Amino acid sequence: VSMIKVSDGIAGVSRREFLYGVGGGTLIASQFAEAAQPSAPLAQGQPEPKLQRVGEPPIEPSRRVGWAVVGLGKLALDQVLPAFGACGKSRLVALVSGDRAKAQRVASQYGVDPKHIYDYDSYDAIAQDPAIQVVYIILPNSLHANFSLRASRAGKHVLCEKPMAISATECQQMIDAAAQAQRKLMIGYRCHYEPCNLAAINLLRQGEIGKIRAVVTDNGQAIDPTDPAGEWRLRKSLAGGGSLMDIGIYGLNAARYLTGEEPIEVAAMVNSPGDDPRFREVEDLVVFTLRFPSGAIAHCSTSYSYAATSRFAVQGTTGVLTLDPATTYYEHALHVKTEKGSRKVELHEINQFAAEMDHFSAAILNQQPVKSPGEEGMQDVRLMHSIYEAARLGRPIKIDWTYRRPMQA
Ligand code: NAD
Repeated sequence: VSMIKVSDGIAGVSRREFLYGVGGGTLIASQFAEAAQPSAPLAQGQPEPKLQRVGEPPIEPSRRVGWAVVGLGKLALDQVLPAFGACGKSRLVALVSGDRAKAQRVASQYGVDPKHIYDYDSYDAIAQDPAIQVVYIILPNSLHANFSLRASRAGKHVLCEKPMAISATECQQMIDAAAQAQRKLMIGYRCHYEPCNLAAINLLRQGEIGKIRAVVTDNGQAIDPTDPAGEWRLRKSLAGGGSLMDIGIYGLNAARYLTGEEPIEVAAMVNSPGDDPRFREVEDLVVFTLRFPSGAIAHCSTSYSYAATSRFAVQGTTGVLTLDPATTYYEHALHVKTEKGSRKVELHEINQFAAEMDHFSAAILNQQPVKSPGEEGMQDVRLMHSIYEAARLGRPIKIDWTYRRPMQA
């Protein structure tokens, strides 16, 4: 077992950073870890990613898949761009931003040739840029569909951030456009690459806690309306919804991958304090339940006003498995309690974004399917709309469509 110190403690970390993951701590490698590989060479002045990728050795830079990042906001600047330094199959080659000066600064920091800088109007010209193979969309939710459709039509593969779009109709259009262009479409579910979540899935499938009876998920944080990344999240036209669309989606998706089942019925309650100006357009608190075919029930909460929380628990007939924190960027903890006793499952943390991007690049290079295609993103969008509808009607809703996840998260 080797110890890897990634950074100093989490004191002073903001609520937003807690949930979306700044911080650090001592990470411990175990039997779940593959050997760490040397990372890609960093361009001059490029920040080093906080965590490294693990897995196959990196391929030669000239053979790596070329990526364009669309939107230079918080997630892109703080997580995604540095993660290229931990990638072994993916290479940043282009930027799309409404702010030319910012794009130029970022381009020089990451060694991107300025001739590959686009703005939202010149975006369609990416069709004539053979260096770009993948377009990674990191824009406010309601812009995902438009930029994804245009990228597919330009002949590019698309990785789109969660939530895939704000309506199922848009999701279907994105799926159809990618299929028509014979290009891939993947949705940014980074937890599908995160070792604690993956270890939890493995343990559950091996029957570590018996038969799953209940899943509990809680994902929330207080939203800051003065933060630019908070501002659009509180506007329905840009966000599509409130805490559910933004963070509740983590619990919804996890309830599905932890059980390995799809819900057959949903029920929900929503509460948005009328005296809080943040919630004029989008909801604050959603508590929803999902009934699965096996009889297991998930009980999930999400909020834009409770203290930062990112926790999953799975209650089985012979034990309990807890992930807390469950969906941060750099720190996770997995505990298992069974008749044999309690233990912390010790894992080697990796850079989830690098693993996710390299998964997509590998699928392109090897012509393989992806873990989370458009259909997976659309399933969550349809379920979220059913959750809103169940809350509005004040009664449970039966799910009247079928969906099968293409591969294990
Ligand atoms: P952000 O506000 O920091 O970044 C959004 C970017 O879009 C900004 O650069 C902004 O200038 C640009 N933009 C373009 N048109 C805009 C418009 N009309 N209004 C507002 N901004 C506009 O937001 P973020 O936190 O980086 O989130 C971006 C996307 O990434 C969202 O879809 C969010 O759900 C997703 N996200 C995913 C994760 C994850 O862990 N996978 C984490 C955070 C955010």
